[in-house]
Amino acid sequence: MLTSVEEAVATRANRQLSVYNLSPANTVPSFLQGNAKMQADQGLAPSARAVADAAAVNRRLAELKVLDRPNSEREAIDLVMMEIAAHGLMEIGFLDSGRNSGGDFGRLAAITETLASYSGAVASIYVVNAVFGGTCLALLGNSAQKARFLPDIKAGKCQVAFALTEPEAGSDATSIKTVATRVPGGFRLNGEKIFTTGAAVADYIFVVARNEAVGMEGRQVSVFMVKQNTEGLTIEPLQKMAANLHASCRVVIQDVFLPEDMVLGGLERMDAAWSGLRVLGTLERFVVAASNVGLARAAADRAVEFAKARQQFGKPIAAFQSIQHKLVEMRTLVRAMSLMVAHAAELLESGADATEQVCMAKYYCAEQLQHVVACGMRVLGGRAYFQPEDMERYYREAPLALYAGGTVEIQKHLIARCMGLPAA
Ligand SMILES: Cc1cc2nc3c(=O)[nH]c(=O)nc-3n(C[C@H](O)[C@H](O)[C@H](O)COP(=O)(O)OP(=O)(O)OC[C@H]3O[C@@H](n4cnc5c(N)ncnc54)[C@H](O)[C@@H]3O)c2cc1C
Repeated sequence: MLTSVEEAVATRANRQLSVYNLSPANTVPSFLQGNAKMQADQGLAPSARAVADAAAVNRRLAELKVLDRPNSEREAIDLVMMEIAAHGLMEIGFLDSGRNSGGDFGRLAAITETLASYSGAVASIYVVNAVFGGTCLALLGNSAQKARFLPDIKAGKCQVAFALTEPEAGSDATSIKTVATRVPGGFRLNGEKIFTTGAAVADYIFVVARNEAVGMEGRQVSVFMVKQNTEGLTIEPLQKMAANLHASCRVVIQDVFLPEDMVLGGLERMDAAWSGLRVLGTLERFVVAASNVGLARAAADRAVEFAKARQQFGKPIAAFQSIQHKLVEMRTLVRAMSLMVAHAAELLESGADATEQVCMAKYYCAEQLQHVVACGMRVLGGRAYFQPEDMERYYREAPLALYAGGTVEIQKHLIARCMGLPAA
């Protein structure tokens, strides 16, 4: 027997299938088609399969009451990762070329969107491990590193965090000061990172640092794998306004010794990190936009559900035109956000340069999400202000969209470059 939470999640998943128009009988848009044989085998398009699997994860996590667990508890995050891996979702987040992935971009968006419709924290756990763990290693690691770490990351047994941002280097990531110095047998790492999500529970933190052993043409940047509990590493979880299950942390790195095999790419390819990080940045923006669609869809669905049930002046509030207009605005914006992400997926899939469209999707979805949740707060009236109403959580989760994957202002800055507008 389904609980009301499970029913709500199942309903959302079904709505997502219908919004994508992906029931088995329907024609699937070309950018979501993926592998035709797989469709024939399973009777579902790969993206529909991904939505169904992610919705099954949501149902199971609701059953396990994962969101009620204490903040940043490794055991709770293990439960999330085990469910995600058991449903095959970690196979999909791994894009080792960043291009021509045979349908994976549509699936990646579908999974992220579906998980985010349940919880921003769950989507964050997936994205950090699949994209910043798996894809980063697949893009930048050498064959020995991939063989050693990828199977456990895919199985959800090895968790990672990705540390780029520093107290003095946020939007201007090129100004990072964390530095790796070459010493016999490896490197010494010194610096400080902030907002590193998942660092408190990660087995490895992928630290982006200036590498004094790399020439300027490699932008003097490498990515180092720092094991949890290494001597010289201090991690302090920071309290956030939402998604504290997956804590963001301050990470102090003091004279940490790293053996040579802990620099991604090894000594031979440690200078190739910069181009890989650019691909990773595009993917991050893409999945953040997809997660915004999931959250907006959940808020819009909840508002409709509430408006039909809540009676005032002897009728459902959904009968009042001012409420109807808000519901219509929310639904329209969710559709537009979804199409922006779908177009970005199509471009990524085709191998064309998708930078402009991905930045537009990230910017547009981040801004419209704020409007959608604000409408949701109005529709629910005072109840929206009280826990455990979902809308209250959506309202707190939404602002992350403005910063994750680069701020909205930075997306506009990048779009301006794509338009050929002069730099300041
Ligand atoms: C919850 C959360 C989790 C995060 N997790 C991670 C993580 O796991 N790993 C990680 O490395 N980072 C993480 N980040 C960091 C995130 O990527 C940064 O917050 C983001 O890049 C912006 O940097 P900043 O916060 O330092 O803002 P700043 O760069 O200081 O920007 C402040 C303001 O100035 C504006 N601004 C800056 N430069 C320009 C410009 N050239 N033109 C116009 N406006 C400009 C910005 O848009 C913003 O409005 C996380 C952030 C948050 C909030």
